[in-house]
Amino acid sequence: MTLALRLAQQGKRVTLFESAPSLGGLASAWKLGDVVWDRHYHVTLLSDAYLRSLLKELGLESEIEWVQTRTGFYTNSQHYSMSNALEFLRFPPLNLIDKFRLGATILYASRLKDWKQLEKVSASEWLQRWSGEHTFSAIWLPLLRAKLGENYRKASAAFIWAIIARMYAARRAGMKKEMFGYVPGGYATVLDRLGTLLAKENVTVRLAEPAKRIEADSKGGVLVTLENGRREGFDQVVCTFASPLVARMCPSLLPGEVDRLQGFEYQGIICASLLLRKQLSPYYITNITDSGLPFTALIDMSALVNRKHLGNNGLVYLPKYIPSNSPDFELSDDVIQGQFLQGLSRMYPQFDRQDLLTFRVSRVRYLLPIPTIGYSERLPAVTTSVPGVHILNSTQIVNGTLNVNETIQLAEKAAARFAFLPPIAGEELTADESQEANRQPVA
Ligand SMILES: Cc1cc2nc3c(=O)[nH]c(=O)nc-3n(C[C@H](O)[C@H](O)[C@H](O)COP(=O)(O)OP(=O)(O)OC[C@H]3O[C@@H](n4cnc5c(N)ncnc54)[C@H](O)[C@@H]3O)c2cc1C
Repeated sequence: MTLALRLAQQGKRVTLFESAPSLGGLASAWKLGDVVWDRHYHVTLLSDAYLRSLLKELGLESEIEWVQTRTGFYTNSQHYSMSNALEFLRFPPLNLIDKFRLGATILYASRLKDWKQLEKVSASEWLQRWSGEHTFSAIWLPLLRAKLGENYRKASAAFIWAIIARMYAARRAGMKKEMFGYVPGGYATVLDRLGTLLAKENVTVRLAEPAKRIEADSKGGVLVTLENGRREGFDQVVCTFASPLVARMCPSLLPGEVDRLQGFEYQGIICASLLLRKQLSPYYITNITDSGLPFTALIDMSALVNRKHLGNNGLVYLPKYIPSNSPDFELSDDVIQGQFLQGLSRMYPQFDRQDLLTFRVSRVRYLLPIPTIGYSERLPAVTTSVPGVHILNSTQIVNGTLNVNETIQLAEKAAARFAFLPPIAGEELTADESQEANRQPVA
């Protein structure tokens, strides 16, 4: 959406095809009973300069509510607060030496500027070296597994570095406090404003129109075939979806490009949203180090968001990160609900199922490209060998984590790069004529 906006502001005619019935992708909103909130938990950090700048343009930056949140750990069937240095020192699962090494690891990572050297070593090897065997198996390993499953073995130390660097940047910007922000109304408000701005800039938004095939045509343009069979021609096409899908949808890419795009291994996610009668946890995030729970963390959005924005209810997210080819994607909503509620009762024996108002399940196969050893050497080029076909997606985030700020940054930089494309002048053409003549950039 950011890319479409910038290209339109450059004077180009832009069409945005979105396969879903609403805008926003991973950051889209949905309904939980009467409450509209994000399909996946989202926070903004004080250091999210690109996102905050876009929100400023949308007139929303000054509306952000910044909150100091708390972090919890669920370890050995106990809940611990890990929200400040004192609580860290009291944390029973680690002895004093472990704690010192853990603190030193985080501090060292936060000061390291040369992330590229960390790409050469695996996250587990690096963490064991710096934090020691016990802290690795008690803390780091469960956290790595929570996000990457068994794929943690493939992740480089740059993955950990990027997470620590993001949190440290946020703390620096927030005067040492962990401040998280949200726009009242959540991403529904942001997307609504952005959608309005796209319309004002004459971006044509085509919802529920998945693209199926993207190829060069004989006249130097690009032909897009939609799932519904329609074919439309454009000057340039930017694919902003997952790399393996780009490989599948662009048959004229070179074999080397296809291999590279298919070579990215993705983590997916099953993420349940639970609207509850009341707030469940005092912590925004509870990291889970115990094994055997069906989800990999617990996020209580109502510990961050003023409950007046949530119809005075509680809102909990239960994510389960799994490989993109996991059979768990086939589990029905009912099975997931049964498993997750059982896990929740284990963590919170006082949890009363009568308090559950709504349970919705989101499934995403291609969420997070695993930052493997030497990852930045294998990035897909923005401009492909197929004339007029470009790629812009999260596999191109090299020294950061997956978040909206990084995504917008990619779009802003690419838009500057695409500025050389000439604006289209001329008359409006019919849909049939468009295939021949109305070539326009498309995000
Ligand atoms: C559980 C979770 C928690 C997160 N937490 C945070 C957070 O706290 N803070 C933060 O900043 N970020 C967070 N993020 C990350 C953030 O949502 C992403 O960085 C961002 O939304 C990525 O945007 P994108 O446009 O690159 O990709 P996407 O959002 O994946 O957009 C790709 C779009 O392409 C569409 N599409 C796919 N195939 C086709 C096709 N064939 N034709 C047409 N359209 C197609 C999809 O429907 C989708 O809308 C979180 C994400 C998740 C899942």
